[in-house]
Amino acid sequence: MSEIESVEDFRARARAWLAENIPRIGPDHRGRSFVRPDDEELAEVAEERRIQRLLFDGGFAGICFPKEYGGQGLAREYAEAFDQELAGYSFPERLQVPNMTPCATVILEFGTEEQKRTHLPKILRGEELWMQFLSEPGSGSDVAGAKLSAVRDGDDWVLNGSKIWTTGAWWSDWGLCLARTNWDVPKHRGLTVFMVPIHQAGIEISRIEMLDGSNEFCQEYLTDVRVPDTDRIGGIDDGWTVGTRWLLHERSFSSSPYALHPTGSNAYGSAQGDPAGNLLTLLESAGRVDDPAAREDVGRAYTLQVATSELDRRLHALILSGKGSDQLAAVGRLMHGVAGAQLATIAFELAGQSAIAGDVDDDVLGDLGMRYLLRQAGSIGGGTTEIARNVISERVLGMPRELALDRNVPYREVRTAPSGGSSGARR
Ligand SMILES: Cc1cc2nc3c(=O)[nH]c(=O)nc-3n(C[C@H](O)[C@H](O)[C@H](O)COP(=O)(O)OP(=O)(O)OC[C@H]3O[C@@H](n4cnc5c(N)ncnc54)[C@H](O)[C@@H]3O)c2cc1C
Repeated sequence: MSEIESVEDFRARARAWLAENIPRIGPDHRGRSFVRPDDEELAEVAEERRIQRLLFDGGFAGICFPKEYGGQGLAREYAEAFDQELAGYSFPERLQVPNMTPCATVILEFGTEEQKRTHLPKILRGEELWMQFLSEPGSGSDVAGAKLSAVRDGDDWVLNGSKIWTTGAWWSDWGLCLARTNWDVPKHRGLTVFMVPIHQAGIEISRIEMLDGSNEFCQEYLTDVRVPDTDRIGGIDDGWTVGTRWLLHERSFSSSPYALHPTGSNAYGSAQGDPAGNLLTLLESAGRVDDPAAREDVGRAYTLQVATSELDRRLHALILSGKGSDQLAAVGRLMHGVAGAQLATIAFELAGQSAIAGDVDDDVLGDLGMRYLLRQAGSIGGGTTEIARNVISERVLGMPRELALDRNVPYREVRTAPSGGSSGARR
């Protein structure tokens, strides 16, 4: 394809290709908030890998990834056009976050040439699915307090410890793992990042059952897992250099100019709450079109959506022009977390009792109850909104840093709670 193909020509080509190759979302499509049996979920993952492969073969995978690693090497406008055309089609939702970003994005930024050539094409073909091994039982917000240890042994490292809250580890292939390699320096200076195959003898995966009945989240126990030094990403003890970019990508997947790598414009909004457009249908099916309070709620939802997308636009412009710090991504992260919870609440209240007692297979009401139960997840995953507020106050507004008793102290000497928690924050 010509390198000077215009965005509109690209859009037309994408439109025709999608119509011919990709299945439309069917009436039985269920959002990810539905709890489903394992075999059904595995079949969906396999189908998403198949569609990802179709995208790859059709020349539409990794639109903003460099060509030498299997991508299309195109600018963000092309990715945006493709996402617009993708509306209504099945797309590999599970293969986007955290697989494409932050994981593939971190490999792209910090991997060696060999690591990039080995893994990125496989990720773009749907052959490798990556998850984040970041949070630990004692360090979620305080992610730099990681205790999973990696000890050098010849050409290998030996990893021992536990990670937790890994979304979908049981159906994924690789973990991007933040480990402690040095206990004699302050916590941010003794970390290293490794690439770890998830399904191997030394890793026990335990699934966590949540309030909504799902068991997507996993805890992994690593015992003497050997990782070759060639699978280290970034410098030894310099994992925080990788980690800060990693967290920035994680924080900003739904709202920053760096979120170039996921495909599917509605993927993340739909996980956080119904788009306001659907609320009109909801209003009709609940028989509340003439109810002033309900109409006001729909107006509120529209306002939230417009404010969120306008804020995103402004943040993108500030960051891309260099007029604003990339830490402004925390503002978008905060807005998406707060707005997502509010939208889910509005939809739930509009539906009234049908949201609880309605048929889960109902197109309109189906998963509103579940989304309401999950509404806080968008304020926690990707780093909490409280941490986003800290980042905004300290790094954007320049307010004094919060007290951290473990700063400049060798991590070995830091007193921690029995669960392993210590002071500090995910930044
Ligand atoms: C949907 C979802 C997906 C996730 N996926 C993954 C994944 O794939 N991989 C992974 O590694 N993790 C994942 N997580 C875990 C997530 O990153 C952590 O839950 C999150 O960082 C918070 O850590 P924590 O649960 O340990 O809470 P804690 O850090 O214990 O925090 C508890 C509360 O205290 C607040 N708090 C903590 N420190 C401060 C501070 N300094 N200032 C102000 N408030 C503070 C927090 O905001 C929070 O409200 C996921 C979580 C969710 C909800």
